[in-house]
Amino acid sequence: MATAIYPGSFDPLTNGHVDIIKRGLKAFDHVILAVATNPQKKHVFTHEQRIAMAREVMGDDPRLSFDSFNGLLVDYAKKKGATVILRGLRAVSDFEFELQLANMNRKLMPELDTVFMMTNEENFYVSSRLVREVASFGGDVSAMVPPIVHTALKAHFSTSPA
Ligand code: ADP
Repeated sequence: MATAIYPGSFDPLTNGHVDIIKRGLKAFDHVILAVATNPQKKHVFTHEQRIAMAREVMGDDPRLSFDSFNGLLVDYAKKKGATVILRGLRAVSDFEFELQLANMNRKLMPELDTVFMMTNEENFYVSSRLVREVASFGGDVSAMVPPIVHTALKAHFSTSPA
């Protein structure tokens, strides 16, 4: 049974993430969406909120679970018995960082493979960072995120604007 971990910040979950999760579920038996909790990073949503939103968007699927982790991804993968790290690739600009990360993880845990998937082209330019930036200035991001994420972003930035 192949378990894949899909790690990321998911701050917030975008349509690009949703697309990668759906593709991952076609390829692997079990996918774990794992929200990285990094106390050094400033986030719009807490990791609990990010998980709750992802759960609500994706609905009930026994092959998909939601979790958070801190520390080394390889340690978390070992704990979960995962053999694959799932990552999304967008533009070429993602490639260099992802290559470094995948190589480092392979050094740390040779039996863990990183698998890259590409989104559909509508989501090719969608990133959480851009979504946060546009939403913070009141821009419309409804085409880039699921409706509940859109609502949560509007609520967040109406009380704490950029
Ligand atoms: P972001 O890079 O958007 O801030 P994350 O750190 O949460 O988001 O990303 C987690 C993973 O999802 C990374 O592998 C990232 O490349 C991938 N990803 C994010 N958005 C997209 C997208 N629109 N298409 C494909 N992959 C994506």
